[in-house]
Amino acid sequence: MKDMFSDTACGVVLGGGLTGLSAACALSRAGYAVKVIEQDATVGGLSKTIRHNGYRFDLGGHRFFTTDRKLNQFVQDLMTDELITVPRSSKIFMRGKFFDYPLRPTNALFGLGIPTSFRILADYAVERIRRLMQQGRSESLEDWVVENFGRTMFDIYFKVYSEKVWGIPCNTISAEWVDRRINGLSLAKAIRNAFSRVSGRKIPTLVDEFLYPSLGIGRISDRLKEEIELSNMVLLETSVEAIHHAGNAVEKIVVSSRGQTDVITGKQFISSLPLTRIIRMLEPAPPQRILDAASRLKFRDLVVVAVMVDKERVTDQTWIYIPESFIPFGRIHEPTNWSEKMAPEGKTLLVIEYFSFKGDRTWNETDENLITTTVDHLEKLGFIRRAEVCDSAVVRVPKAYPLFEIGYHELCKELYAYLGRFRNLIIAGRSGMFRYYNMDHAIESGIRAAEAVMGREMDPDGQFRKDTFLAGCER
Ligand SMILES: Cc1cc2nc3c(=O)[nH]c(=O)nc-3n(C[C@H](O)[C@H](O)[C@H](O)COP(=O)(O)OP(=O)(O)OC[C@H]3O[C@@H](n4cnc5c(N)ncnc54)[C@H](O)[C@@H]3O)c2cc1C
Repeated sequence: MKDMFSDTACGVVLGGGLTGLSAACALSRAGYAVKVIEQDATVGGLSKTIRHNGYRFDLGGHRFFTTDRKLNQFVQDLMTDELITVPRSSKIFMRGKFFDYPLRPTNALFGLGIPTSFRILADYAVERIRRLMQQGRSESLEDWVVENFGRTMFDIYFKVYSEKVWGIPCNTISAEWVDRRINGLSLAKAIRNAFSRVSGRKIPTLVDEFLYPSLGIGRISDRLKEEIELSNMVLLETSVEAIHHAGNAVEKIVVSSRGQTDVITGKQFISSLPLTRIIRMLEPAPPQRILDAASRLKFRDLVVVAVMVDKERVTDQTWIYIPESFIPFGRIHEPTNWSEKMAPEGKTLLVIEYFSFKGDRTWNETDENLITTTVDHLEKLGFIRRAEVCDSAVVRVPKAYPLFEIGYHELCKELYAYLGRFRNLIIAGRSGMFRYYNMDHAIESGIRAAEAVMGREMDPDGQFRKDTFLAGCER
């Protein structure tokens, strides 16, 4: 092994997704020396945009939305004139029909039929009454949905869709996920929302429009990288293999790049690598109970199939949710409805998400079979004709979602407590913290990690300033 750098990097950021890049960008703006280590050939992690023969697609359509003014400004300043405003329009495709999401009462009434619609309302009313008499928090996703939408809605839509997304029964999934994901939503609110579209107080997950870079979500990461590289380095195709520590401090990391093993030293380390992975990278290894806790936390993986179509547009939707279990995928998006620059003129593409566990049948299926299955289903559902398909691509995305099984929170707390002993290591980000973070949370988490490294809070005007925490590293 050789020491890769003659100068010791002051801040070492593990992972070049939005969290790591935001941390490194904040540190770079403040004048600190920092190196970002990323295993892939491009930055962006889950928020990257794939380029394929003139087409572009995200790993599942990514909309940027935040209620935080400073964060919004951070992204607007970074992207300057690249952002466009996209109207949101989502549908649920079920029983051969499209249903609005969020629900519109008339749509549901005609789509599901009058008896089912009345059953939905009646058992929702029963749940509300039960709720008034029985206090206490819902523990599982099933409890939460039944409480907020009633049993019939749970059985018709949520059960099948959630089990498709997570691959485990709804009564074993923690309610925390759904609480965050459709924060503040209930059947009553969805109906109120539908009746007064301009009530002014929107439920955050149901906003009508959002910002999007015209060349795909990955542009946010590209811009962060460009800014970091004005003064610092982003090392691509460099995988962190081990984290060596002594005396409650990280001393160095071992990386491998193009068949060569190297050592990177630093004073402060920020990790956005999967929490479970860094636990296993520690040398010396943590106690067995910590390794056991890490091994009980699991991720859900994703297989993305993009089907390029020789026509202007297939749908007019941002997302289409496919709950029914006889259709093997869970969601469709058409990137050209987000930005027309996502495909060559006159062509479009559909991006299909298969939720999977690494190593299962879907994950191990050949690309050719995945494409055939996808096109078959799209044709049966009436979206496209096989003859219109002019290209395709498959991307496997490991660790797309932390899997929130009941009890995960206690395991995380144990791991956070153990890692808390390292005085120069901060963990951040979605997989890094094992939290249901969206991009805004990931960016914020990276900036906060940088602030913690700098030992100070953000100025009221949003500027980052140097301080003495890393005094020895200042350029
Ligand atoms: C299908 C899907 C749809 C989504 N849609 C939205 C949306 O519409 N809006 C929204 O706001 N958010 C959305 N998100 C969430 C968003 O993608 C994440 O919040 C964000 O990308 C997380 O960034 P991160 O940097 O924390 O993690 P990651 O993107 O996972 O970054 C971690 C990085 O670490 C690297 N890495 C891992 N191991 C190593 C190693 N050993 N050595 C070196 N590097 C390593 C990885 O390659 C990766 O680049 C979606 C996520 C998914 C999966």
